[in-house]
Order: sequence, then C-alpha cells, then structure tokens
Amino acid sequence: MTRRAWLLLPLASCARREQFVAAPERVSIAEPGQGMVTVEKVIKTKAEWRQALSPTRYWIMREAGTEQPFSGEYNQYDGPGVFRCAACGTALFSGDHKFASSSGWPSFWQPLAPQNLLKRQDGDRIEVLCIRCEGHLGHVFDDGPPPTGLRYCINSIALNLTK
Ligand code: FE
Repeated sequence: MTRRAWLLLPLASCARREQFVAAPERVSIAEPGQGMVTVEKVIKTKAEWRQALSPTRYWIMREAGTEQPFSGEYNQYDGPGVFRCAACGTALFSGDHKFASSSGWPSFWQPLAPQNLLKRQDGDRIEVLCIRCEGHLGHVFDDGPPPTGLRYCINSIALNLTK
C-alpha cells in the first residue's frame, strides 16, 4: 500500500460507516389548511416517552391502556375543532365527525384523514394508532352511524382539541 493510501484510509472508513446511519423515517400526513405534508416520524425510547408524557397518558398511548369511560375531557364535547395527537400534534379527528355514542369515549364516524392513522389487528378488534408517533389512540368498530357505519372509539387523553 502506498503512503497516500494509508493517509486516506481513515476517511474511507468514515464514509463507509456513514452509509449505515439510518435516514430519518418520513411519513406523508394531511395537515388542515396545508394539504399533504411530509414529516419525520416521532420515534422515542420508552424512557424518553415517560419523560414526555404524564403517567396516565404514557400508560394509554405507549402501553395501549384504556381510560375509564365517561371520564375524559372530550367525551361530552360537541363543538367544532381539530383533535390532535396529544403526543406529537398530528391532526387526527374533526369535531364535524364526532357523534354522541353513549360509550363513554369520544367517538367519530371517520378520521380527519385516513393517511394520519395506522390500523392494526388487536385480537378480534382493530387498534387505531397515530401514524407519526405510533401512539395508541383506541379502536375502530363497525357499529357506527351513517354514512360510514364506523365508530372510532378514542381515548380522550390521547387527544388535544385545537380550534
Ligand atoms: Fe402522534
């Protein structure tokens, strides 16, 4: 090996390592008033989420807990607004699609934008999560009102209402 090659070796090794640094994962979400926007996913360790969220919110959003029915701040709310993910701010539901379900949890017959949600099978139910931070929101059932016949049954504490 020439002297010049020896000198360049550390640089070459750095360049190789760099290829293995994962690029931030991105998702396209709908943002009211802006259309589709591309954002980085919000990825944190369990310890970081514990720091970021209150204990109850952590239990519900990161450990798929369920709040007590009729206990949530938005259960009875019947006004306008955009309900955002309490962990990352993604717009998830609109007051226009909320209905009185008598279940004890905020209920919507459709999401603000389907792209902003992640759904996955959870036993015999379908779990609903935020696409950007993968925080647990609730479940979706097929006993909702027209026009969709769906009932997104969402923990109030996983939402922040913005007007
Ligand atoms: Fe989120």
